[in-house]
Amino acid sequence: MRSVEPVAASTVAAFDHECDVLVVGFGCAGAAAAFEAASAGARVLVLERAGGPGGSSAMSGGELYLGGGTAVQKACGFDDTPDDMFTYLKAALGPHADEEKLRLYCDGSVEHFEWFRDRGLTFNESMYDAPSWMPPTQDGLMWLGENAWPYDTVARPAPRGHRPATESFGGWMIMDKLVAAAKAAGAACHTDTRAANLVVDDAGRVVGVVARQYGETVTYRAHRGVILTTGGFVDNEEMLAQHAPALLGHGKVSDGLDDGDGIQMAAAIGAATRRMAVVQIAMSALPAMLVRGMLVNALGQRFINEDVYPGLFSVAALQHQPGPYWAIVDEEGYEDIPARDLWGVRPTFVAETLAELEQELGMPAGALETTVVTYNRHAERGEDPYFHKAAKWLRPLRAPFAAVDPRLGFNPGDRESAGAGSGASGFTLGGLHTTVDGVVLNNSGQPIPGLYAAGRAASGIHGEGYISGTSLGDGTFFGRRAGLAAAADA
Ligand SMILES: Cc1cc2nc3c(=O)[nH]c(=O)nc-3n(C[C@H](O)[C@H](O)[C@H](O)COP(=O)(O)OP(=O)(O)OC[C@H]3O[C@@H](n4cnc5c(N)ncnc54)[C@H](O)[C@@H]3O)c2cc1C
Repeated sequence: MRSVEPVAASTVAAFDHECDVLVVGFGCAGAAAAFEAASAGARVLVLERAGGPGGSSAMSGGELYLGGGTAVQKACGFDDTPDDMFTYLKAALGPHADEEKLRLYCDGSVEHFEWFRDRGLTFNESMYDAPSWMPPTQDGLMWLGENAWPYDTVARPAPRGHRPATESFGGWMIMDKLVAAAKAAGAACHTDTRAANLVVDDAGRVVGVVARQYGETVTYRAHRGVILTTGGFVDNEEMLAQHAPALLGHGKVSDGLDDGDGIQMAAAIGAATRRMAVVQIAMSALPAMLVRGMLVNALGQRFINEDVYPGLFSVAALQHQPGPYWAIVDEEGYEDIPARDLWGVRPTFVAETLAELEQELGMPAGALETTVVTYNRHAERGEDPYFHKAAKWLRPLRAPFAAVDPRLGFNPGDRESAGAGSGASGFTLGGLHTTVDGVVLNNSGQPIPGLYAAGRAASGIHGEGYISGTSLGDGTFFGRRAGLAAAADA
């Protein structure tokens, strides 16, 4: 097994490289940290174990959760305030969202949006007003559950999913701009270089890193601070088994290198971790189909309003309901889904009656029928008293009916998108315990001198929930703060 034990500075005869701030990992958090530290005048070196920067950030959808009154929100006709954003996120990322981090994140969100624009990212001032995991258009704004019950009752709804101007997945575009900005600010990067151990001096201060590069050991001295931005640990089966078993057996939302290196190196010198069991998990079920029909468990029962942010119906199903889960829709609802929102999904079973369909699905006789009859009775009056799906989606379901199996993925036969055949995939949200400035704390709540973390290597704004865009969002926001704090660290 690879050792993550610290190396005593006194045993390093001479360091191969020196800098002020050493950033470990060149994803979104690392790029934001490197940019700010270099802009503040620090000599910055970024280590990246892959052949180039990007990480999971570059593969991502590029949705950024921003609000409080951004230019895009205003142009699309929405008034928003940091308070409404805070109230929504506290509820949706809860229970137990980190309120101190969340407050700063919401209060600083408009400035953070402008920071992205200043780095060269463009956001179209147009809105994609349909339920989707990922709009196929270049629209700059989308809903991420803010207008769904119960969230619409606690905060004034405003869409906050900000998207760079590219179709579908835009993470590459964000990373393209942030990496260029960090390099232009003066940050240097050593690729194919995997940090393995922290170097600690006699006073307990982190002063560098030992890394492996092309089979050789290379040592790095950081005069002001080391910032760990190595991502989460979904690719480490042992860590998952220990801390986040909810993700075992599901697909991995990652670049394959999220194996917890930074968390393990820091834990080896006494760093505390937080919320290691908290995960984002997504089921391959189509929001556009579910809002027009329903999501049911193995007993044919609904359990949530289907118009919530899709990650929330995924968690509600996978963590709290007996599976398998089924998307149920009638012919009229299926035909109503715009082709661009259908993602190649076709019915797994079709039937003229609910009795036939529930038999195909292996449900107890009458189970699904009871659910649909009750749903229809209320839908006729434009109501959903059990789960409060928005009235615009309510309509009695009529034969013929279809059931779709989320385990099959989005495109026909696409097992990979279905997350290893389980129908779900995810990533980890827990990580190192940090202050709002990225300082890593030990188990006594004391700062570990010289050590910082941000992104998914750290625990961010999340409690037990996740909303798209909050990972790139808090990774860059707190990455920036860590970069500034490390640059100023004497
Ligand atoms: C397909 C997909 C879609 C997603 N969509 C969204 C979205 O739309 N919005 C959103 O907010 N989030 C999204 N996410 C999640 C989000 O991309 C990640 O949570 C986020 O990018 C994590 O950022 P990071 O900087 O912490 O880590 P990363 O971007 O993973 O960067 C970590 C970097 O550290 C490097 N590294 C690791 N260990 C070492 C080591 N020992 N030494 C040197 N380098 C090391 C890695 O190679 C990597 O480059 C998505 C993820 C995926 C995969």
